Amino acid sequence: MEKSLQLEIVTPDKLVLSESVDYVGAPGQLGEFGVLPNHIPFLSALSVGNLYYKKDGKTKYVFVAGGFADVSSNKITILAEAAEKAEDIDVERARKAKERAEARLAKAADQIAYARAQVALQRALSRMKAAGVS
Ligand code: ATP
Repeated sequence: MEKSLQLEIVTPDKLVLSESVDYVGAPGQLGEFGVLPNHIPFLSALSVGNLYYKKDGKTKYVFVAGGFADVSSNKITILAEAAEKAEDIDVERARKAKERAEARLAKAADQIAYARAQVALQRALSRMKAAGVS
């Protein structure tokens, strides 16, 4: 039995993280799910939100903007549209994105514009939360 599992987070343009960890909590589309070492194979779609992992008694956060999680052979691979480690998040940029999304929500002319603005707001709020501000 393994005591840790490999966490890999990949986006279309970069490898965000590759680390041996003790536990992963991820924002599944059906709610948060947790993965411990030696988990059975599992596939889940991800929502926009924050993934966290535990290593050496510390918890770290990574923003993920949707995608998939694939668990197999004691490894969890996250394929995300965008992802940033908490320390790499530009908080000011997220704040501005939040303000733009709120302005778009206030004057959305149709359901599609409203839904897009909502998702943009969700990305901005999750980034701020991952970075420890709100
Ligand atoms: P913005 O309007 O500020 O671009 P967004 O939510 O539309 O925000 P995304 O489409 O999710 O941005 O991401 C585009 C690229 O920019 C991705 O590579 C993503 O990692 C990066 N990115 C977006 N916002 C931030 C941020 N606040 N800090 C660091 N990287 C960011």
